[in-house]
Amino acid sequence: MADNIDKPKTGFVSLVGAGPGDADLLTIRAHRCLMQATVVCYDALVGEGVLALVPEQTRKVYVGKRRSVHHFSQEQINQTLVQEAQAGERVVRLKGGDPYVFGRGGEEAEALIQANIAFEVVPGITAATGCSLYAGIPLTHREYAQSVSFITGHQQDGKSDTDWESWARPGKTLVFYMGMHHLQEICTALISHGASENLPAALIAQGTTIRQQVIRSTLANLPARVAEARVKAPTLIIVGEVAALDLNQ
Ligand code: SAH
Repeated sequence: MADNIDKPKTGFVSLVGAGPGDADLLTIRAHRCLMQATVVCYDALVGEGVLALVPEQTRKVYVGKRRSVHHFSQEQINQTLVQEAQAGERVVRLKGGDPYVFGRGGEEAEALIQANIAFEVVPGITAATGCSLYAGIPLTHREYAQSVSFITGHQQDGKSDTDWESWARPGKTLVFYMGMHHLQEICTALISHGASENLPAALIAQGTTIRQQVIRSTLANLPARVAEARVKAPTLIIVGEVAALDLNQ
């Protein structure tokens, strides 16, 4: 495996985790991919410091879903990767955090397999570990949390999922990705399934960047605190006793 990495390749795609924002969190392997790429396809989650590392002569293609002018569907992103690789490019698909944690990287890999294109996947620091640590929150702690769950908050209306009861039990840390628009529903559902209203909960906005904001509160009060603070995406929600800790100096 390891001796493959340095060989020059054409028509090859690297699905690369860029970490949650701070360019210092890039792996050495991710950095090497960026140096060797002929084209870098990136989206809105990739930190500007990471993009600044891409050599000037390297073609950069924005394939994000957020900007209104050029809105790329997942299907179009997959096609772009396939087409660039078929044209012989050394493609880096730069993705926020880790490519295989809520990033639809799995779908991109499937599209590449289907098109018979050689690829590799380079892990990145996911938002849960990067942002919590920068906020001074240990995701597990012998006294407070024996397990941690990464949960998508997208389409989480608090009713449909049968897991609420187990999530609401003590001794756990819950990390909700993409939960901002359902923050109220998430907090209410946890309380109605048995979690304490006073259970610590925190929201981290633009984690690991110089604009990072951390709001610490409780399940009952976090939604109101967040509404007052007018935070900017991306945001991560951490629920559990550990969310009250602040281990930064
Ligand atoms: N693959 C990414 C997650 C993609 S889903 C990863 O491993 O981190 C996008 C969600 O990730 C956002 O809605 C947000 O919940 C979270 N996220 C990513 N970067 C973040 C950051 N810098 N600060 C806070 N949340 C972040």
